Amino acid sequence: MPDWIKSRIRTIPDYPVKGIMFRDITTLLQDARGFRKAVDEMVYDFAGQKIDKVVGIEARGFILGGAIAHQLSVGFIPVRKAGKLPFETHSQTYTLEYGTDELHIHTDAILDGEVILLVDDLIATGGTAEAAVKLIQKCGGRIAGASFVIDLPDLGGAQKIRDMGVKVHALCAYEGH
Ligand code: AMP
Repeated sequence: MPDWIKSRIRTIPDYPVKGIMFRDITTLLQDARGFRKAVDEMVYDFAGQKIDKVVGIEARGFILGGAIAHQLSVGFIPVRKAGKLPFETHSQTYTLEYGTDELHIHTDAILDGEVILLVDDLIATGGTAEAAVKLIQKCGGRIAGASFVIDLPDLGGAQKIRDMGVKVHALCAYEGH
């Protein structure tokens, strides 16, 4: 299964900067069976659990998260960069390699106690997912787990999220950056 997924992911060396191996999932998404299988597998670990809503992280988390929400027949909530959401938001700052960035969620997106599945394409250092977990918690949501297509375990992000008490599931892993 990981090989089946990996054969549909394209790697672009030195993008967007030298030294980064960019894992491009557009080749997976444009493959009808690949897209469907990825979505099926991303919810598989959470089958039988009650999930009220899916939260997807801008931007590739929207594509996967929207499809997963549709599959589960639940609502979808976008977590977006600063200045993109029109209503009142909660915000969370997180650290990047150079400097900081901010993620936002609408304050009325999650009802108190709702169970959330967090979705993104890839987890690297885990800074982005950690900020999303904190936003969900600020809204009063409980997190069933976080689901990714790709884990880069050498960067420690998945472990960081597990250490926050959140179950992490990824379809495949790559060594290094
Ligand atoms: P991080 O916060 O370090 O876990 O980074 C995760 C976010 O950055 C995800 O939204 C990914 O889409 C993106 N990202 C980080 N590293 C890569 C990579 N090597 N290839 C593709 N996307 C990446």
